[in-house]
Amino acid sequence: MSTDCIFCKIAKGEISAKKVYEDDHFFAFHDIAPQAPVHVLVIPKEHIATLDDLTPQNAARIGEMTVLISRLARDLGLVEGGYRVVTNCGEGAGQSVFHIHYHLLGGRPMNWPPG
Ligand code: 5GP
Ligand code: ZN
Repeated sequence: MSTDCIFCKIAKGEISAKKVYEDDHFFAFHDIAPQAPVHVLVIPKEHIATLDDLTPQNAARIGEMTVLISRLARDLGLVEGGYRVVTNCGEGAGQSVFHIHYHLLGGRPMNWPPG
């Protein structure tokens, strides 16, 4: 837990969010500024700042999170139309919250390459 991290606070219920899913290790909620009809953020409850901070000790958790994201995508009805899973690593890539999170986007066609 990082005391001034907004995503740690959301995971603990200290800041409200539109929750999609929660278990002992993960929390998923709707993005406050959605970029697609479905835009969900999925985070580990453990505070890991970026993808660059993964270690052999915590990497398996992110693997589990990827499986969870595919389940959520199915539950949200995104499989047929396709969906995108994105994580921004570092300011230069557009990361603005330094608690690792995967964006799950769907419900509209996606362009490639992303901007
Ligand atoms: P990043 O830019 O770090 O890849 O993604 C951060 C995401 O968090 C952005 O899409 C932003 O809209 C979202 N976000 C920032 N603060 C909040 C918040 O307080 N609540 C929710 N639900 N989303 C937030
Ligand atoms: Zn955090």
